[in-house]
Amino acid sequence: MELLDGKRLSKEILEELRTRLDSLEGPRPCVAFIRIGEDPASVYYVNSKQKKAALIGIESRLLTLPIETAEAELIGHIEALNADPAVHGILVQAPLPGHMNERTIFNTVAPDKDVDGFSTTNLGRLVQEDPDAFVACTPAGIAEMVRRYKIETEGRHVVVLGRSLIVGKPAALNFMRKAPFANATVTVCHSRTRHLPEITRQADILIAAIGRPAFVTADMVRPGATVIDVGINRVDDPASAKGYRIVGDVDFDKVAPLCTAISPVPGGVGLMTVAMLMHNTLKAWERRPAR
Ligand code: NAP
Repeated sequence: MELLDGKRLSKEILEELRTRLDSLEGPRPCVAFIRIGEDPASVYYVNSKQKKAALIGIESRLLTLPIETAEAELIGHIEALNADPAVHGILVQAPLPGHMNERTIFNTVAPDKDVDGFSTTNLGRLVQEDPDAFVACTPAGIAEMVRRYKIETEGRHVVVLGRSLIVGKPAALNFMRKAPFANATVTVCHSRTRHLPEITRQADILIAAIGRPAFVTADMVRPGATVIDVGINRVDDPASAKGYRIVGDVDFDKVAPLCTAISPVPGGVGLMTVAMLMHNTLKAWERRPAR
């Protein structure tokens, strides 16, 4: 069984990006984060993205807004960043407060600064297999993991568990592209799928992105399959200092011995996601309009 080591890969990607960034002339690439409210997970994610950016020479800005901010005010802030030539990428940290329409907000970000890839334009570009697409960072991280480990996908059955806009849907679109490390036969499952274990057992490559701790059990996996675990779930653990630990969507200890390869949680796809945000920011900088 091969462990798909996101820690090592993300380090490698960040090093490569740093080398490219070191050779740049002119203004540094800059990514702007907008965080609404003080959700601890969002605070943690934005902090760690800012730290990684600083580490490799990408500038970042952070705008924090109170949870009760009106949607129109947030739109005004995004439009100001869209118009600012010193900002190349914009990321509005999800989840947004309930009184805001995610679709409206994601579509307000200028497509060529949409480093999160959630806008209609970038999802459309992904469907059209347009290389200019910004692919959402988690599916892009999965794809990069598959590419760097040279996992054969052509003609193989990829089963994606989850159909969210952030992970499941773009991951499925990515694997069905007519391209190397894609060209797969893709099945997408969700909470209404019948006979789920029968379908997951047909997977050559199983992508688990549902947000339920240890949901994928050994009887759901075909011996020899490759399993990529996207889940990030907190479970109580009185034995740990924090009182909780992070686990994936896969029952790792029971499933891993069956697999040809598997990604761990933590140390898997999560770190790849941050690395791909940096990749997308550099891409946005490279594609900035000439002034
Ligand atoms: P989400 O928006 O809640 O979507 C979950 C998906 O799983 C939905 O499509 C849902 O089906 C499906 N689902 C839920 N329960 C199911 C069940 N019992 N059987 C079959 N399908 C079921 O979650 P998400 O944003 O995609 O995130 C999924 C997981 O990935 C979470 O643990 C999240 O923390 C993690 N995540 C990790 C990263 C990273 O960087 N590694 C990034 C983003 C998310 P319906 O559509 O029918 O409701």
